[in-house]
Amino acid sequence: MRSLDPATRQALEARLRFYRELGLTEFYRRPASTSDVAVAEGASASASAETIVDEPQAQSSIEENPSIPPRKPMLSPPPVSEAIEQDHAAALRLIREDIGDCTRCALHKGRNKLVFGDGDPKARLLFVGEGPGADEDAQGLPFVGRGGQLLNNMIGAMGLKREQVYIANVVKCRPPQNRTPEPDEANTCSPFLFRQIDAIRPEVIVALGATAATYLLGQRQPLAGLRGRVHSFRGAKLIVTYHPAFLLRDPRQKKEAWADLQIAMRELGLKMPAKS
Ligand code: SF4
Repeated sequence: MRSLDPATRQALEARLRFYRELGLTEFYRRPASTSDVAVAEGASASASAETIVDEPQAQSSIEENPSIPPRKPMLSPPPVSEAIEQDHAAALRLIREDIGDCTRCALHKGRNKLVFGDGDPKARLLFVGEGPGADEDAQGLPFVGRGGQLLNNMIGAMGLKREQVYIANVVKCRPPQNRTPEPDEANTCSPFLFRQIDAIRPEVIVALGATAATYLLGQRQPLAGLRGRVHSFRGAKLIVTYHPAFLLRDPRQKKEAWADLQIAMRELGLKMPAKS
């Protein structure tokens, strides 16, 4: 076990937190050489300092896709204790505190309320949309407008209540005129969503629409090519379907969306609700 002087230890911990912001959370070990870390004679060591020499194993493909600009580094979150990681609600509260009164991207300029997310912190099922609209911006809650009512109906059709799932968005502040978030806005905000996913640890994620699918899967593809199969993301099964706002514009696609939700139900082991 090595001893690190406090300054080296602090610098390397900051590096680890930076990797985490980029979505790199899996590490492999390799022996440390003296050129990797400065060893301070007589300095006290802690057990966790050994992990500082580990290197990240790239897992995010967003950076590999030239059509999606890489995420910008953000202010690093404080280290998360094991106890908090076990407590889903406490982990979510910590993420909310880290976001604070966020000005990390231009979307903060037009927002009334930041929309963090809503639902059961231990939900087995997570829905991810694009970003808040006018109603959500006014109330600070995701999917509360007409699209939200349709999403509630979709959740009900699965035999679940809204309180049993968790709902979040790629960006937490409303884009002007409900436009699609710009890549730099989505890439700046989405690491918070990824941390929410890590805190909730859902079994199934349903990406609502192309923007959610793009930033979760790290690839820009027509929705048709992504629907109808099970992807994986951060330990969860990921299913892609239409955004409720699109279904309001084109209700004929509701049947297709229901087929997607049935895939989610199958993955969750849910039975089709009895017809009343
Ligand atoms: Fe911050 Fe996200 Fe809002 Fe941008 S959209 S200001 S990154 S919370």
